[in-house]
Amino acid sequence: MTALTMTLPPSLDELVRQLAIKRGTSTDSLIASILSRELGSATHRLYQISTAGSLVEGVHEGAIWASELLKHGDFGLGTFQNLNGEMVILEGSIYQVLADGTVKHREDDFKIPFAAVCQFKEEGRFAMGAVASLRELETVCDAYRETQNLFYALRVVGLFDTMRTRAVRAVSAGTSLVRAAKSQREFDFRNVEGTLIGIWSPPYSKAFSVSGYHFHFLSKDRTQGGHVLDCRAAALHVGIQTLWEYDVNLPENGTFLTADLSKDPADALAKAER
Ligand SMILES: [Zn+2]
Repeated sequence: MTALTMTLPPSLDELVRQLAIKRGTSTDSLIASILSRELGSATHRLYQISTAGSLVEGVHEGAIWASELLKHGDFGLGTFQNLNGEMVILEGSIYQVLADGTVKHREDDFKIPFAAVCQFKEEGRFAMGAVASLRELETVCDAYRETQNLFYALRVVGLFDTMRTRAVRAVSAGTSLVRAAKSQREFDFRNVEGTLIGIWSPPYSKAFSVSGYHFHFLSKDRTQGGHVLDCRAAALHVGIQTLWEYDVNLPENGTFLTADLSKDPADALAKAER
């Protein structure tokens, strides 16, 4: 056992004492059980800002500060205000892949309209042989997912023979995702080492997330990336993590409150993301 000294606001201290009395336990074991629940579940939690369906409807003004998002995860993907590029979150850093092909390491604080992150902890690992397409890569990953009904984080590392990505160009407020995707820039990279940052979302989550696989890419030297459209590789390493807590933080103001989010966004998402 380790002794921990804590400074608590008096109101919280009072609540802890009352709850300990109510549960017939000591404050020490109450705090230990709260901490273990919090720390244990953090490794299985996907934390998301806003919904994919609202992006489809053109809701893409900032909803959460980058510094706040990073408290919830060090690995994930998302987009920027006015859909200005593709977001990659890797090892606790946020990268912005812009439509001119450049990659910016964003160390400033700014507001983010949509993102999904987790604390990445590899639970399973496997080697992947040659894959001729993104579709093939996804099929190989399928075998390592235990169920269709939980979320997964996937980190795929290696040398890619070819990599095709896209980055959306900044659009005016209210532009739908499908319209924005029409002016996207596509990039073809060859013999590029890097990481795929992937989230797999169950079909039932389609109003919230991009159902199925969603991969963003970042090269090892952090100069190339984007939303992955296709790739080819001879050998890759995949780390996988199951996520069974799905924490969605909805924007409490702005156009999210007035947008019509009653439509099924699945077709529009498939069109914009594939
Ligand atoms: Zn994407």
